[in-house]
Amino acid sequence: MYDQTVIQPLLLKYGAQLDKKFCECPYTKELDDGKYGQMKKARATGLELFREENIPLQVKEQELVASYNEIIGGLTAGWEREDRPYPYVVAQMDSPNRAVREAAWRSVQEARKSIKSKVAAMMDELVALRHQIAVNAGFENYRDYVFREKNREYTVEDCYNFHNAVERYVVPAWDRLARQLQGVLGVDAYRPWDVTPCTLSGAPFETVDQLMDGVEKMLYATDTYFGDKFKHMRERGLLDLDSRSGKAPGGFCDFLGYSNNTFVFANFSPSFFALIALLHEMGHAVNGYLQVRDEYEWADLRPEVAELYSHGMELLCLDKLGSFIATNHP
Ligand SMILES: [Zn+2]
Repeated sequence: MYDQTVIQPLLLKYGAQLDKKFCECPYTKELDDGKYGQMKKARATGLELFREENIPLQVKEQELVASYNEIIGGLTAGWEREDRPYPYVVAQMDSPNRAVREAAWRSVQEARKSIKSKVAAMMDELVALRHQIAVNAGFENYRDYVFREKNREYTVEDCYNFHNAVERYVVPAWDRLARQLQGVLGVDAYRPWDVTPCTLSGAPFETVDQLMDGVEKMLYATDTYFGDKFKHMRERGLLDLDSRSGKAPGGFCDFLGYSNNTFVFANFSPSFFALIALLHEMGHAVNGYLQVRDEYEWADLRPEVAELYSHGMELLCLDKLGSFIATNHP
C-alpha cells in the first residue's frame, strides 16, 4: 500500500521530469540511434502523454492490477477432496487417463467460475479508468491512446487484418491438428480435456530438479552459451520455479540491473506446459544477457519484440525433447 500510494506517484512524477530533462538536453540528439533510438522515442512519447491529473488514476490502475494478481495467485481448485493450488489441478489435464483429465477440467472451470463476478467487476472498473486516462491525454479512447503510448509502428487496421488472417489460415490448421489428435486418442467426440500432452506416458518430470536437469541438457545441445547461462542462473538461485501457495500461475523473467543478471520466477507443477514455459522464459533470460553484453537497453524492449526471443528459444530447442524425456524416463 505504501509503495502504491506514496512511492508510485513520486516515480510517475519524477519519471516525467526526467523525460523532460532528457528530451530538452542538447546532447540527446548525439546519442546513437541504433542503440538509443527506441529509448529516445519512448521518452518523447512519455513526455507528450504525461498529464499530472492522470497520476492518481494510474496509481488506481496499478492497484487493480495488483489485486487481480492477488486473486489469481490465491486461486485454488478442488482435487481429491482437497483444495490444491490452481496450477496443480491444471497439470492433471496431462494425464493419459481421460476420466482424470475430465475431472481436472471441470474442477478448473469451477474455480474460474468462483471468481468470475469479482474479476468481471474489476475489469469494468479498469475499462472506465483507462478510458478516462486516454480522454485526459486528449484521445478519443484507450485503444488509440495505448497504440501511441507503446510506440506501435503498426496500425489498428493492421491488427484487424492479422485477426482475419488467423481466422482464415491458423484456425483451419489448428482444426487439422485436432482431428489428428482425435485419431490418435481414438475418441468419437473431441472434448476440451483432450489436450496434446496426454499422449505422453505421464508428466515429463516430477521434481523441479528433474525439470532443470532436462532443460539444461536441451539448452546445451542447442547452444553452449544458452547452457552456460542456464547453469549460471541455477547456481546463483536465479531460477525460482517451485510451486507454492500464493504464487501466481505461469512465469515471468525480469532483469536485475545492478548485478546484470536475469531472474526467472514461475509456479510450475509437473506438466508438459511447465517444460515449454521454462524454455520460453530462458529465451527472455538469454536475450537479457545478450543485451547487457551488447550494451542495449533492456527497459524499453517492447513485448511483441521480446516475445520473438522467447518463442524463438522454444522453436530452437524443441527438437531436443527426446533427450529431456530420456533423462527422466530412462
Ligand atoms: Zn514471454
